[in-house]
Amino acid sequence: MTSSPARSHDHATVYAEEDLGEVDSALFTRRTVPGTGVVVAGTCPRCHGRTESLFAWALPGTGTKGVLGRLLRNPDPSARGAAEPDPLTDETHFCECGHAHPACPPDTSFRGCGASWRVR
Ligand SMILES: [Zn+2]
Ligand SMILES: [Zn+2]
Repeated sequence: MTSSPARSHDHATVYAEEDLGEVDSALFTRRTVPGTGVVVAGTCPRCHGRTESLFAWALPGTGTKGVLGRLLRNPDPSARGAAEPDPLTDETHFCECGHAHPACPPDTSFRGCGASWRVR
């Protein structure tokens, strides 16, 4: 773990469903959880809160565990000719900083500031 000098989480950021486009992959890390999936972690580019999402492998007979679980759309690497699916760059990410930002609707799938982005 390294401590970064990044800006601190701005709790006053008003919730908005905003597509931030592509952000630098250097801001994010991914780690494989054997038998479970891939966890992508980083800092939300909008509210600067820490966000972490589990992308679960779609294994037969298993469901997603936990509210953060999302199935990868294409769990079969051979179907795409890739070594393995990489949710870091393949998926759209949503802020899941866990803070109920001002004006946050009660029925959102992800508790955060509403931002979404892709990683390049
Ligand atoms: Zn955010
Ligand atoms: Zn936040």
